[in-house]
Amino acid sequence: MSWDIVGQDWAVALLRRGLETGRTAHAYLFAGPPQIGKTRLARTLAQALNCEQPDPPCGECPSCQKIERQLHPDVRLIEGEGAGGSIRIEQVRALQHEAVLSPYEGQRRVFILRRMDLATVEAANCLLKTLEEPPQLVTLILTAVEADLLPSTVVSRCQRLDLRPVACQEIEAALRARDLPADKARLLARLSGGRVGWAFQAAEDEAVLDRRRQGLEQLAGLLGAGRVERLEYAHKVGRDTDACRDLVELWATWWRDLLVLRGLGEDHLLNVDGAGQLRSWAGQAGVASARSVLAALQATAAQLQANVNARLAMEGLLLQLPHWQEPPA
Ligand SMILES: [Zn+2]
Repeated sequence: MSWDIVGQDWAVALLRRGLETGRTAHAYLFAGPPQIGKTRLARTLAQALNCEQPDPPCGECPSCQKIERQLHPDVRLIEGEGAGGSIRIEQVRALQHEAVLSPYEGQRRVFILRRMDLATVEAANCLLKTLEEPPQLVTLILTAVEADLLPSTVVSRCQRLDLRPVACQEIEAALRARDLPADKARLLARLSGGRVGWAFQAAEDEAVLDRRRQGLEQLAGLLGAGRVERLEYAHKVGRDTDACRDLVELWATWWRDLLVLRGLGEDHLLNVDGAGQLRSWAGQAGVASARSVLAALQATAAQLQANVNARLAMEGLLLQLPHWQEPPA
């Protein structure tokens, strides 16, 4: 298998060179947007560091397999509890106790600290001690979406790799290589926005596309709905901030596509399966109106990101949506 990573070729090349020349870092920081493959790359590096075959990672030796199945005693994934949870100082202390021990069965102990940017300040400061005096035979791999939130003292002690969203065509090819039908591969690649992890998850889990369909139906319904109905909807959906984020992101792709249809044309749509529907919407939505809805969606996305009360953010958004006498089909 070797490095089975979609996109990020330069990062893989850099890590390989380090391994080949025996110059690996004690600590890495993989930074970049959610679901583009940071943890996947971290796990693959852990495999390469512990692989028992000449061209690591082979993906097949007992060590590689245990790491893949998260059963290797020397490779630990450390993350906050629940969605958006923080790594706490107790978890870093536990890491420090373990890090001084020799590897149990592999060549190196590897600790993957997922979303270190969400860790508590105490946890980050505590980790600094380990970064300053890294034990022999230990590799730390931190991942972060907002690397700027990490203390600069932490960042400066890591080899930092900034991963970028992956090109749509590469994701499409990777999905096709996994036997996905061409139409679906194209759609998921477009919708993914460069997030490989999202695309693979959506390929395996029908519920992802079902949720999308429902979200678009709700949007159409809301355009024909009055104030009271909109506020009720905001009240209901506002209980789940993550769901609100997904919805706002989805609706933004739709309104973006309405504008794209009038400008760049169908080839540039994200919702490639919705061209017919988008054309009928475009008949009702003027460019100025579509632009202002898109701006409102982007503002709401920023509010949700900043943890503004989700119900209030959704209320504000829904009251800005135009009212269409004849809601779109
Ligand atoms: Zn191996």
